[in-house]
Amino acid sequence: MVDSFYNYIEGQWASSTTDRWTKVINPANTDDVLGNVPASSSKDAEKAILAAKKAKTEWKKMSGPSRGEYLYKAAEVLDANKEDIARTMTREMGKTFPEALGETNRGVAILRYYAGEGMRKTGDVIPSSDKDALMHTIRAPLGVVGVITPWNFPVAIPIWKMAPALIYGNTVVIKPANGACITAIKIFKCLEEAGFPEGVINLVSGSGSEVGNAITTNEEVAGITFTGSDTVGKQIGQEALKRGIKYQLEMGGKNPVIVTKSADLDLAATATVSGGLKSTGQKCTATSRVIVEKDVYEEFKEKLLQKVSEINVGDGLEETTWMGPCASESQLDNVLSYIEKGVKEGAELVAGGSRLTQGSFAKGYYVEPTVFDNVTTDMAIAQEEIFGPVLALIKADNFEESIELANNVEFGLSASVFTKDIQQMLDFMDDIEAGLVRVNAESAGVELQAPFGGMKKSSSHSREQGEAAKEFFTSIKTVFVKG
Ligand code: NAP
Ligand code: MG
Repeated sequence: MVDSFYNYIEGQWASSTTDRWTKVINPANTDDVLGNVPASSSKDAEKAILAAKKAKTEWKKMSGPSRGEYLYKAAEVLDANKEDIARTMTREMGKTFPEALGETNRGVAILRYYAGEGMRKTGDVIPSSDKDALMHTIRAPLGVVGVITPWNFPVAIPIWKMAPALIYGNTVVIKPANGACITAIKIFKCLEEAGFPEGVINLVSGSGSEVGNAITTNEEVAGITFTGSDTVGKQIGQEALKRGIKYQLEMGGKNPVIVTKSADLDLAATATVSGGLKSTGQKCTATSRVIVEKDVYEEFKEKLLQKVSEINVGDGLEETTWMGPCASESQLDNVLSYIEKGVKEGAELVAGGSRLTQGSFAKGYYVEPTVFDNVTTDMAIAQEEIFGPVLALIKADNFEESIELANNVEFGLSASVFTKDIQQMLDFMDDIEAGLVRVNAESAGVELQAPFGGMKKSSSHSREQGEAAKEFFTSIKTVFVKG
C-alpha cells in the first residue's frame, strides 16, 4: 500500500477535483516509493484562493502578538517532528540527512524569528509640518499571497516565505514544487496542529503550468512570492505586472569563488568543495566557478582535486554519505548534458564526469563530483546555471581580472573571495555584483535574520528574510491625523 497525501484547503485535507495523482519516488533508489500526491487542477487552486480570501479579514484584524502565538506553536510542533520531516526530505529529493535536519532546524528558527516579529514595531512617527497633527506610517498586509517554491530547500524556502507573510497579516496559498511536495505536506501537518484558523494557510499540489499558473493569474491574489528558475520567474513577473500586483522573484545563480595568491589555500579548497558540492551542487548559492590567480593555480588545483577525490557519494540516509544523488532524473540529465557540453567546448575533465551506475548506484540518479580545468569565460559551463556537482576552474592573471571574470555573467546571487589582503577585501565588497558577498567563507551560506536576494538576473531586486521581508509582505500607509 502506497501512502496518499492531500491538498490542504480551508482547514481540510482533500484530494484534488481531478482525482489524478503523481507518484513520488526516492532519487537514491527509484524502487522506494514515498507515496502519491494530488495532480491538482486550476479548480483546486481557485478553491484554495477563495478560502484564503474568506479568511483574510479576520486574520488581518488579529493583533500581531496573537498571530505570533500560532507561529510559536508551529515552531514547537515542527521541532517535535523534525527527524521525520528531515528523513522525508532526504528520501524525496536526495539531500543528505544531516543537511536535511539542519534545514529543518532552520525552519524552526525562522518560525520563532517571525513569531517575535509580531511584537515589533510596524511603523514610524514622522514630524509633520503642522504642529497640531500626528503623522505616522502603518503597514497593511497585501491580502492573499501566492507562494511558489522550488524543490531544493523543501522546508526552509516555504517557511521563509509563509512565516513573514502570515505574521504581517496575509493569508497564503502555496504550490510547492512537485519534487518536494510530501515534505511540504508534512510541514502543513505541523501547521494544522498549531491550529491556524480555517483558510489562513492552504496548500495545493500540482504542476507549475496548471496550479502555479492558476495562482499567478487569479484576480484575488494580491502578491506572488516565487523562488525557482529564471525562465519561470520571468513569466510569473510578467503576469504579475499585467495585473499590477506585487511580486518577488528569487532565481538562479552562477556563483564565483575567487582564490587570490594570498589566500589560505587549504581553507579555500575546503570551502570550494563544501560551497560547490554539498547538496549535490543544487543550491542557488552553490559555487560553480572557481577563479584562481595564476601564481597559485596549480597548487590550489591539486588541493581541490585531493578533497574532491575523498568525497563519499551515496544514499543520503547512510551515515557515511557526504553527497547524495541528483534530485530527479531530469536534474541528472541536465547535469550530464552540461558535462558533455563542457567537453565539446574544450574544457578538460580533471575529476568525475560520469553517471555512477554500479552496485548500489544502479537505481539512483548519481553523478560523480566533477571538476573542469581550462575553462574560459565564454563557455556554457562558465555562463549557465548547471545546478549540479560541477566546478569550473578558470585562471586569472591577477586580482583585478578575477573580479572582471567573476562579474562576467548575467547572474548575481552570491560570491566569495579568499584573501588576506584588506584592500582586496574592500575592493571585492565594492566591486562584486552579487547580493550575498562572502569574504573567506564559502559562497553558500544564508542566515535567516539577514536580508537575502540577488542582483542582476538572479532576482526581482526585492529581498527576503530578516526584517527585509516586511517590505514585500506589506504596503505602507502614511497617516496624517488632526484632532
Ligand atoms: P522551477 O522549475 O522554476 O520551479 C519552481 C516552481 O515554479 C515549482 O513549484 C514549479 O512547479 C513552478 N512552476 C513551473 N512552471 C510554472 C508556471 N508556468 N507558473 C507558475 N509556476 C510554475 O525551479 P526548480 O527547478 O524547482 O528549482 C531550481 C531553480 O531554483 C534553480 O534555478 C535555482 O537557482 C533556483 N533557486 C533559487 C533560489 C534563490 O533564493 N535565489 C533558491 C533556491 C533555488 P513544478 O512543480 O511543476 O516544477
Ligand atoms: Mg524545474
